[in-house]
Amino acid sequence: MRGYSSPDKTNKDLVKERNGVSFQPLLLTHVLDNGADQTDKRRRIEQLALSDPVIMEGPDYSYLSVPEKYSEGVRKHVHCIKKVKEHGLTDNMDVVTYHGVVFPQEAAPLSMHDVAFKPMFTIQASDQQKKKWLRQIENYEIIGNYAQTELAHGTYIRGLQTTAEYDPSTQEFIVNTPTLTATKWWIGTLGKSSNYALVMAQLITQGKGRGLHAFMVPIRDMNTHEPLPGITVGDIGPKLGFHDIDNGFLQMNNIRIPRENMLNAHSQVEADGSYSPPFNDKIMYAGMLGIRAHIPLMCARNTARACTIAIRYSLVRRQSELVPGGPEPQVLDFQTQQNKIFPSLAMSYAFWFIATRMQDMHKQGMEEVMQGNFSQLLEMHALSSAMKAYCTTRTTKAIETCRLACGGHGFSEASGLPKLYGNAAAPATAEGEATVLFLQNARYLMKCYEHAKSGSAMDTFSSYMTQKKERFSGDVSIGSMIEALAYRAEKVVARAAAQLFKWSKQGMDRMQAWNKSSVCLEEASIANAEYVLVKSFADYLSALSCDAAVKNALQRMCSLLASYYITEHAGEMVQGGYMTEAQLDVIRLHLTELYSVVRPDAVAYADGFDFSDRHLCSILGRYDGNVYEKMFEWAKNYPMNKTDVHESYRYLKELKTNSKL
Ligand SMILES: Cc1cc2nc3c(=O)[nH]c(=O)nc-3n(C[C@H](O)[C@H](O)[C@H](O)COP(=O)(O)OP(=O)(O)OC[C@H]3O[C@@H](n4cnc5c(N)ncnc54)[C@H](O)[C@@H]3O)c2cc1C
Repeated sequence: MRGYSSPDKTNKDLVKERNGVSFQPLLLTHVLDNGADQTDKRRRIEQLALSDPVIMEGPDYSYLSVPEKYSEGVRKHVHCIKKVKEHGLTDNMDVVTYHGVVFPQEAAPLSMHDVAFKPMFTIQASDQQKKKWLRQIENYEIIGNYAQTELAHGTYIRGLQTTAEYDPSTQEFIVNTPTLTATKWWIGTLGKSSNYALVMAQLITQGKGRGLHAFMVPIRDMNTHEPLPGITVGDIGPKLGFHDIDNGFLQMNNIRIPRENMLNAHSQVEADGSYSPPFNDKIMYAGMLGIRAHIPLMCARNTARACTIAIRYSLVRRQSELVPGGPEPQVLDFQTQQNKIFPSLAMSYAFWFIATRMQDMHKQGMEEVMQGNFSQLLEMHALSSAMKAYCTTRTTKAIETCRLACGGHGFSEASGLPKLYGNAAAPATAEGEATVLFLQNARYLMKCYEHAKSGSAMDTFSSYMTQKKERFSGDVSIGSMIEALAYRAEKVVARAAAQLFKWSKQGMDRMQAWNKSSVCLEEASIANAEYVLVKSFADYLSALSCDAAVKNALQRMCSLLASYYITEHAGEMVQGGYMTEAQLDVIRLHLTELYSVVRPDAVAYADGFDFSDRHLCSILGRYDGNVYEKMFEWAKNYPMNKTDVHESYRYLKELKTNSKL
């Protein structure tokens, strides 16, 4: 089997579990891949990397220092670029699939070139500029990044201080980092890899500030890779995760670049310095939406990885007693263990299916933007802000809960969970901090609420605001539970709107009233996100034609997620009299009964994600379940154990010498 560890020597408990499941994991895989042919294609691409010794025979990642991780990452990435070309992989998703094996749970060192620099350049460069640079960008002669954030400003982009002042006498821009706090900071792929930076700077021409614009700034010599005169560049130092990426800093001192280096597809500076603004300033963030649209799928896969590890390990791990004097049970038989893992498992499917929907929306939306039609941009921006914030924050929680579910061994790097956490935590902040994005979404929800009050829905996702909510029906059908989540979302949105109104009526200005209501506004965005997730999960399933047992298995997950969210917000359901306490108890019971129904299929859900051991990088999550042997082997191979007496013994020895004095 592809990349799986010795399936013939599989742990007995896992063999028994796999023989007792109600659906075939491979058929679930087909649903997640969107068809059996797509599964075959993905596996073929993965196999190209899995059978490549240059990729597979690298050193154990956990044993490397941070600079070694970066260096090893660059080695693999350069090999990967050559191989992607050689294998003729041109479709973006195929390249992502290939990268998934080369960089399991790591962020590839040059990834910001691929996911930020190139897309931003493509959207903002004119045809002439593309003619000049795109070929070099595509073949990595030019390696770039997206340099927006500064030491003192990230969220508030209007506060960015880097300047690009136009000098008509030479037809050049002079780019400057005017203060220490204006130093570009956190920029992925900048520190050691890039020779160009796509710098976001305040344009000044004819003595006037014209706002943020993108500039192609050469930062290193194209032959020697030495920083160019006036450039100070380096790595910002060790981080929680993303060890393979050289997040960097950059200072520019009177760097002169030609007029054509301002990306000018949408706004231009003429030779005399006169300026034409973009036809629509939303174009500046259209590129960012592409990155955000892909994040829920990344979250789905990371949550699924953590659940796969926790489920397999919980089936191998036996501990304590369920029956006095009886055999030690598999820890997944404890209801509290199921309560830790199964809601996250359900979320991973919800993230997966909303991601598919968002990618379709984004593709269609960008085609329209390129034709000058911005009508979908507002809804896309609102949805992608909320989903990016929700999926990333929930994913980090899910990984941490799965780590706890693995007890002591979850704390070891051998579990793969610390590394998974470190890398999954980054997108909760990068590309837009979670709270800030929830609040951006809340701004849109306030507009939807206003519309709904006048009787019309602004979009499909907010149509629930126009529908009258009866009391809870009392049954646990998915339809009734979605209505309950819609009730809660509307209630929280209405509460936020009422707060805003109250403060404004008391004479507070708009910004102050917003800040005084922002806890409520963030809650509104979260409540709306949970409703949207379950609703689109259910919609996806009603349109899905697949094996009946797999469909059942997914419907259970959808129902589990809906009832989990309802019980998580029990107070709000009961508070306004929408649900009685007795009805809430029915849902609580439904949730725990679902845990019992899901339990015998747990391994099939995990196997259905079809991660190879290479993808999981986890001894606890191994397909064959041979956890203890491999843990011991891993520890024995740890470089600290290369010698029986560690070199630090020379210090310990001093204690003995001292005690003799
Ligand atoms: C791993 C990683 C990679 C990155 N890569 C890049 C890159 O390649 N290029 C790049 O340009 N940048 C990059 N960044 C920077 C990133 O985009 C910013 O860090 C991010 O946008 C958050 O901004 P900040 O750091 O200014 O946070 P801050 O805004 O300072 O956040 C601090 C706190 O203030 C709160 N806050 C701030 N403003 C508001 C508000 N208006 N309302 C309510 N609360 C508020 C936040 O919620 C948060 O709790 C990266 C960051 C990380 C962690």
